[in-house]
Amino acid sequence: MDTELTGTWQKRIAEVGGWKITALSDGFLRLDGGAMWGVVPAAFWRSMTPPAEDNTILLALNCFLAEKGAHKVLIEGGVGDRWNEKLRGIYHIQGNPTIGQSLASVGVAPEEITEVVLSHCHWDHCGALVIERDGKLVPRFPNASVHAPSIEIACCQDPDPVRAASYRADDLGALDEAGLLHGYTETKEILPGIEAHVLGGHSDGVSVILIGEGKDRAIFWADVVPTTHHIQPPYIMAYDLDVARSYEVRKEWIERSADEGWLGLFYHDPLVSMARIEREGKRFSIATAGS
Ligand SMILES: [Zn+2]
Repeated sequence: MDTELTGTWQKRIAEVGGWKITALSDGFLRLDGGAMWGVVPAAFWRSMTPPAEDNTILLALNCFLAEKGAHKVLIEGGVGDRWNEKLRGIYHIQGNPTIGQSLASVGVAPEEITEVVLSHCHWDHCGALVIERDGKLVPRFPNASVHAPSIEIACCQDPDPVRAASYRADDLGALDEAGLLHGYTETKEILPGIEAHVLGGHSDGVSVILIGEGKDRAIFWADVVPTTHHIQPPYIMAYDLDVARSYEVRKEWIERSADEGWLGLFYHDPLVSMARIEREGKRFSIATAGS
């Protein structure tokens, strides 16, 4: 099988509940296929997400811009470019495009971002929010308040040995110093029409983010459902800290999104950034959304 080693940004736009949602990109990386698929047999996942020779699979870093009135909200914070050559090689980090480039190509300057909402603080979800300028780390979006689960902020700033590989304190430090960082817990209305739900499972505080109202909603899946191939509730990543919790929240929210007809926003899917999940008997399937 011809394995795609590099990805291409799929620029997509949807209107949901009065919000204009644009799929942006902070490029791609590659992670071990077995780690991304947990107990799912390789013979099965290899056909859905073909691995390269080193067993890594291509994953996107799809951030989303949600615009309504004066609000330009960035959902999720990319992987960024503060990576040395060794780590860039291990994770096959490809900044093609970067979050700055994809925002510029839709005509939005960093200063125009009003809020950033993070699902959790793993380095591949918030690494682009600070940049190095004159040897100092500063916020990339100087006018944006950044909202993240409180427990994720705590893990990021002082991770224990089990969590240390997933977090970098530098990703949030400059935001905290600038007074831009705000923690949320449980279910939190960040803005009218933007709601975060702390679920846990994958990480202590991983959250889904809802955009819109009632049935006219999109759901940003974060690492709760990382790609459109991970939509069966037992397909849980080996990275997840609490597998039983992951199963419970995935089953509940996958069912809910299918029953409500919400548009799913998938952070790590290299081909499909926006799609609805549908029920197909006891299983689930993907209906690619018309925008
Ligand atoms: Zn994660």
